[in-house]
Amino acid sequence: MLQVIARVPAKINLMLSVGPVRSDGFHELATVFHAVSLYDEISAVHADAVTVHVTGPYTDQTPADESNLAVRAARSLARRARLRSGALLRVHKEIPVAAGLAGGSADAAGALLACDRLWGLRMPESRLSSVAAGLGSDVPFALIGGTAVGTGRGERLRPVPVRGELHWVLATADGGLSTPDVYRRLDDLRSDRKVPAPSVPGELLAALESADLDALAVLLHNDLQEAALALRPTLKDTLRAGEEHGALAGLVSGSGPTCVFLARDGASAGALAVDLAASGTCARAVAVTGHAAVGT
Ligand code: ATP
Repeated sequence: MLQVIARVPAKINLMLSVGPVRSDGFHELATVFHAVSLYDEISAVHADAVTVHVTGPYTDQTPADESNLAVRAARSLARRARLRSGALLRVHKEIPVAAGLAGGSADAAGALLACDRLWGLRMPESRLSSVAAGLGSDVPFALIGGTAVGTGRGERLRPVPVRGELHWVLATADGGLSTPDVYRRLDDLRSDRKVPAPSVPGELLAALESADLDALAVLLHNDLQEAALALRPTLKDTLRAGEEHGALAGLVSGSGPTCVFLARDGASAGALAVDLAASGTCARAVAVTGHAAVGT
């Protein structure tokens, strides 16, 4: 029986600039997405209806019904292709849930890629990306991986070159943060300020292209960090521990609560992960590399 497997990476945001709220309720964003080597695996085989079976360390926290983003993605693809096909999706989750790593979006992208192949659709990239955008702002990036500037809600993408591999440590927390809650807190925090249009500095893209780690370290920035720290003050301890143990820089990933640290090389990242795990300021710490590719 034909089985198609997609391996889709988690993402971090190297820059997340959050602009004013738009008339549709979304915030205007300018961000640099960066895929890292922590993957969910999504497989698909033919079935009468679309269903999902979840395995892995985060099974308990992942919905296994039709609210699962992989199921929503497969159904939306079938609708767009005017098909009545079904699929049994198996999602092996290694990406923590509600962690600011876009794990649900990764599963949605994986389901789109796997079902596109399984059902023999060969949908053009632009159409697949438009189905993805209907599922969530981070799903179009999850289809392509690597590193890309995202604008609009994050769905308008421009891939950017990165020289070599970057080394990071992800410090994950027990218990997630809700993305809408974090945005709401940010709106409260800056209710007295005029919010400028979001932007990504050209210097950041230049630092990525030339692998200038010292320049990159000072340019990493997340507008949501202040709100995430207000909702989860213990993350300040995690960020401090990373700095104390030699990270070049640390920041909250997306809407948190995962904290991400830049390391000089693979050996430093490995050592930093051990020190962070031992610091007691996070649940787990794992060394990863970017920019990771999507595989089918
Ligand atoms: P983002 O950074 O894209 O805002 P996140 O990484 O913080 O998201 P996710 O792991 O994508 O968060 O989960 C957000 C919510 O989506 C969870 O609370 C969960 O109930 C729901 N969800 C639906 N399908 C999935 C899935 N396949 N994996 C994880 N969460 C899912």
